[in-house]
This record gives sequence, structure tokens and C-alpha cells, in this order.
Amino acid sequence: MGNLIDGKAIAEKIKEEVKKELEILKGEGIIPKLVAVYVGENPASSVYINQQRKNCEKAGIVYELKNLPADTTEAQVISEIEKLNNDKSITGIILQLPLPKGIDTRKVQASIIPEKDVEGINPANMGWIIYGRPYLAPCTALAVKEIIDSTGVDLYGKDVVMVGHSDIVGKPVALLLVDKFATVSICHIGTSDAGMLEDYVSRADILVVAVGKANLIPGRWIKEGAIVVDVGINRVGDKIVGDVEFETAKERSSLITPVPGGVGPVTTAILLRNVIISAKWAKNK
Ligand code: NAD
Repeated sequence: MGNLIDGKAIAEKIKEEVKKELEILKGEGIIPKLVAVYVGENPASSVYINQQRKNCEKAGIVYELKNLPADTTEAQVISEIEKLNNDKSITGIILQLPLPKGIDTRKVQASIIPEKDVEGINPANMGWIIYGRPYLAPCTALAVKEIIDSTGVDLYGKDVVMVGHSDIVGKPVALLLVDKFATVSICHIGTSDAGMLEDYVSRADILVVAVGKANLIPGRWIKEGAIVVDVGINRVGDKIVGDVEFETAKERSSLITPVPGGVGPVTTAILLRNVIISAKWAKNK
């Protein structure tokens, strides 16, 4: 497989661990159950929900969909979530985005109690990342960390560049890596507009890109021997590509994630692992 990082193989390993943990929980009479809260309907979410259901059922996790009408108010969504919070048979809650206009997404996310927050988006779970004790952290950020760990690289003193500063990817990835004593720079649109993106990218021993713009990072910018993790998902014609110009980047990097087949499958597996962690957390309550 040359210098490609095999996301599917990493995901399979996580799923094996999930299977073992699930058996232990079942032995204790605990059946992890994930409820997806979905307000209204949109085609992209429907595809995602079907995938979630398939993945959970394949792993042996009970999956239930709570589909609320499109005109549900913020207070009503929160009230539904509170019911799920209080239901002992439910161990994890996932909120499908986007929510209809007029609903404050962050407020609704904050209403999921931390121990059932399998997406790691409750402010308390975000806060635990700052303390260097991530219990339930955002799945994609954990997937990036898992991929970097799988390469065996020692992060101590390494120059890490994170392009993208979203709440669920860029910021938590930077925090997870700085705790391993990497020197982490976070770049974003401001870095690009200041004409400094190439300077940062070209110094990175480890480059993580989560922007959502096809070929934003030309391969020639990449430092010889760098590790590249491309989180971006972009549709170009009938193809899905990442944010990094793959063919040239592959020549220069020592290891690189393909898109598709890199971060995506690992993220899916991490969600299952988070479901197990939440079930254990709820058990100890
Ligand atoms: P977002 O859309 O919330 O934020 C985008 C970030 O990119 C911002 O920090 C913005 O400042 C930065 N940016 C925009 N244009 C830029 C430019 N020209 N130069 C430098 N930075 C620029 O990001 P997100 O939600 O983290 O998603 C990013 C990408 O990752 C998307 O393609 C998304 O589909 C993908 N994604 C993949 C997975 C997965 O599992 N593989 C999961 C989540 C997101």
C-alpha cells in the first residue's frame, strides 16, 4: 500500500475492540442504545442516518430514530432530549445537523447530558479536552489523533500544523496534539488571506487539513517526509476528493490518508467506541 494510511484497517481494529467491550457490557446486563434526534428531513441527513443505523446494528448496538416534525421549536427539541436524558434504557444521544433555522444548535447540543453525549459536543465534554482528559470528544478529532498514533510518530517537539479551526475538528485536534508536546499552529481563512498559509504548511512535520475546499493545499507545499491527514470531503464531478492535492502530496509525504478511505471510516468506528464509553459512563452514574 506504499505510503498510504489505511483508514479502513484502523477502523476494523477499533471495531474489534468495540465488539469485545460490548460482550463485557452485555454480560453485565447493559445493552448500549443510541437514539438519533432528527428534526425535519433532508436528503443528506437521511443517507447519514441509514449509514449510522447499519453500522450500529452490525456492531450489535441498538439504534433508534426520533424524527421530530420540521416545525418543532427549540424548547420542544430540548424537552425531547431531556426525556432521553432521563430514560435509563438509553445510553447515547446523537443530534442530526443541521437543525431547522431559528433553533440555536449549541443550546440544543448543550442540553444532552455529558455522559450520553456520544459526539462529544456538550461544552462540558469539550472542556475536559482542555484539561487533557478527553472522555467523550468529537469523533473526527479523535479519529485524527488515532490515525497519527497509528503511525507510531513521537509527537514530542514535532511541528504540527492544523489547517481549519472548526469546533468539532480543528480546535479539538490542536488541543489533543498540544498535550503530547507537539508545537501546534492553527491556520484558517485569516492565515490564507494574510498570504501565510504556504509558510505554515511547508514547515509541518505533521499536517492536518479540515477545510472543505478541493485541492486547497498544493502538494509542492508539503515538507519532504511529512505525515499528512486530510479530513476534507469535497465532491468534484463524480469523485470525492480531500483538501490536499493528493498525487503530488503522496510523492512528498512519508504517510498520507487517502480520501475516501482515510479519516471517514475511522470517524465512523470512533462513534461506535464513544457509544461504548457512554454506556460505561451511564452505568457508573
Ligand atoms: P468548517 O466548515 O466548520 O470550517 C472550515 C475551516 O476552514 C474554518 O476554520 C475556516 O476558517 C477554514 N478555511 C476556509 N477557507 C480557508 C482557506 N482558503 N484557507 C485556510 N483555511 C480556510 O469545517 P469542518 O466542519 O471541520 O469541516 C471541514 C471539512 O472536513 C469539510 O470538508 C467536511 O466535510 C470534512 N469533515 C470530514 C469528516 C470525516 O469524518 N471525514 C468529519 C467532519 C468534517
